[in-house]
Amino acid sequence: MARLHRWAFPAFAAFMLALPLLPVPDFWITQSNYIGLYSLVALGLVLLTGVGGLTSFGQAAFVGIGAYTSAYLATAHALSPWLALFVGLALAVAVALVLGAITLRMSGHYLPLATIAWGLALNYAMGNMSWLGKYDGLQGVPSLSAFGFDLGTGRGLHDLIWAIALLAALAVIHLLDSRPGRAIRSLKSGSMMAEAMGISTLRYKLVAFVIAAVLAALSGWLFAHFQRSVNPTPFSIAKGIEYLFMAVLGGVGNVWGAFLGSAVVRIVEDQLQVLLPKLIGTSGNFETIIFGIVLVVVLKYAPDGLWSFVGRFAPPARREPDWHGAAALPLRSKPQRGELLLDVQAVRKEFGGLVAVNDVSFQIRAGDIVGLIGPNGAGKSTTFNLVTGVLALTRGSVSFRGEAIGGLPSREIARRGVSRTFQHVKLVPEMTVLENVALGGYLRSRSGAIKAMLRLDREEEKCLFAEAERQLARIGMADKMHELAGNLALGPQRLVEIARALATDPALLLLDEPAAGLRHKEKQALGDVLRQLKSEGMSILLVEHDMDFVMGLTDRIVVMEFGTRLMEGTPAEVQASPQVRAAYLGTEH
Ligand code: ADP
Ligand code: MG
Repeated sequence: MARLHRWAFPAFAAFMLALPLLPVPDFWITQSNYIGLYSLVALGLVLLTGVGGLTSFGQAAFVGIGAYTSAYLATAHALSPWLALFVGLALAVAVALVLGAITLRMSGHYLPLATIAWGLALNYAMGNMSWLGKYDGLQGVPSLSAFGFDLGTGRGLHDLIWAIALLAALAVIHLLDSRPGRAIRSLKSGSMMAEAMGISTLRYKLVAFVIAAVLAALSGWLFAHFQRSVNPTPFSIAKGIEYLFMAVLGGVGNVWGAFLGSAVVRIVEDQLQVLLPKLIGTSGNFETIIFGIVLVVVLKYAPDGLWSFVGRFAPPARREPDWHGAAALPLRSKPQRGELLLDVQAVRKEFGGLVAVNDVSFQIRAGDIVGLIGPNGAGKSTTFNLVTGVLALTRGSVSFRGEAIGGLPSREIARRGVSRTFQHVKLVPEMTVLENVALGGYLRSRSGAIKAMLRLDREEEKCLFAEAERQLARIGMADKMHELAGNLALGPQRLVEIARALATDPALLLLDEPAAGLRHKEKQALGDVLRQLKSEGMSILLVEHDMDFVMGLTDRIVVMEFGTRLMEGTPAEVQASPQVRAAYLGTEH
């Protein structure tokens, strides 16, 4: 996340807040009010869509909830707008929780479709309830006042809108740079990795969704008292699409993109509404056509939005290490050497008619490195996924430290001290190496979104980063901690995954083909790291295709072929086995 230089935010804030005092024409104050209002909604979309990867076309409906609640309570019950604000926000949170709990489980295209559905439904409801004035809406909404001053609808209101928008931007920036923020930033990489770190992905989808809804409702509340009337039109799906357009145009991955996109859309739209009918000779919403074309061009030539042009002049601020001497994160009680750690009994997995894992049993004792080898398609990854809870068992049992864990979700298994890496590396490419490893410390820390937005999580953050740096040093990668994970080669990426797994303070480490795709040098470095971990007493299940790699590293080896356990023994026994040789020779070369 590109962070502007230290002075840029205060300078921008001071300028926006000083605007009403400057000899700026009323017209531009009004434009600026709109830009602030739009930015709030677009900011929510940056978090939800740009960062979290969840596309919503329905944000305008949440703007409507904030606007209608205050308009109705102020006109029908003469309630103070400030009290109505809280009612509106509470209502938005409640609606977001219900809609989110239902729709955020959907994947792919179903989620955006669902947002269109509830966006339409809520908008339709606003237009059809007689107590909300149907399509005429509600008139005579009072303007806001604060400390006895009427803020009016122009210069007076400007600074309230902008103070709220700027504080919201600051809160989102703080959030993104925090424990819950990293969880939200990991959502786009798919749920498997985050869940393996103990993160409930549904929970953080809901968090992002509720925050986006609250920002939209805040905008709606301000909007109702700015316009002094409400009707359903500004809360329609068309407007919801326009909000998404603002966020994408500005740069949906960046907080300031929300402001830039809102400003460009508001100003250009306004100019075009005057200009185009003059040029074309008839009236109509021609600006919509132009916007459609502009969006296609921007997506083609600047997929990161217009902010990417500005962001070039503001390189991301490098986080200076401020965590030295931070307290250690809590440690779990570790098993005694030789204690039975993992007991896999006759596990079976069928995919339709295919028996991928056929009643396989093995055990791991604390301090051992056990290799699980076999030709491609033997069922190693499937076994691995049965142990880690990614796949459901067809039959059989898995227990860890005496507790049955078969059938638990993967984040519950992670909580008990089983940590893993992935055959296909799953790092969050746009986070630094350090942040990726800090994700591993998720279950050992507790700060939530509100604490993070208020910046009350700094002490715990220091502990998390100190731990992340320690784990990187343990595998010899501390010098790469400030790099973006996506910029590393495969070998170092695999090591970062091991550091992330170590940051969970595991009692058992599961590695799925850590040597796959590595060059000779990288394999040696990996071997050194694993030998060192073993000397430190770590218990490891090493799933590997490459037989030579496991030979020097493991205490015992389980060999699989066609889903069944072919044999189990010491590396020497396995190497001497004609059966194993036949299995490898039979399926390869
Ligand atoms: P390995 O990791 O040893 O190479 P896998 O465990 O990935 O093997 O695969 C074992 C067998 O199960 C293969 O025949 C594979 O095609 C099949 N398989 C794996 N995952 C699935 C799945 N999700 N659906 C259907 N078949 C699968
Ligand atoms: Mg595999």
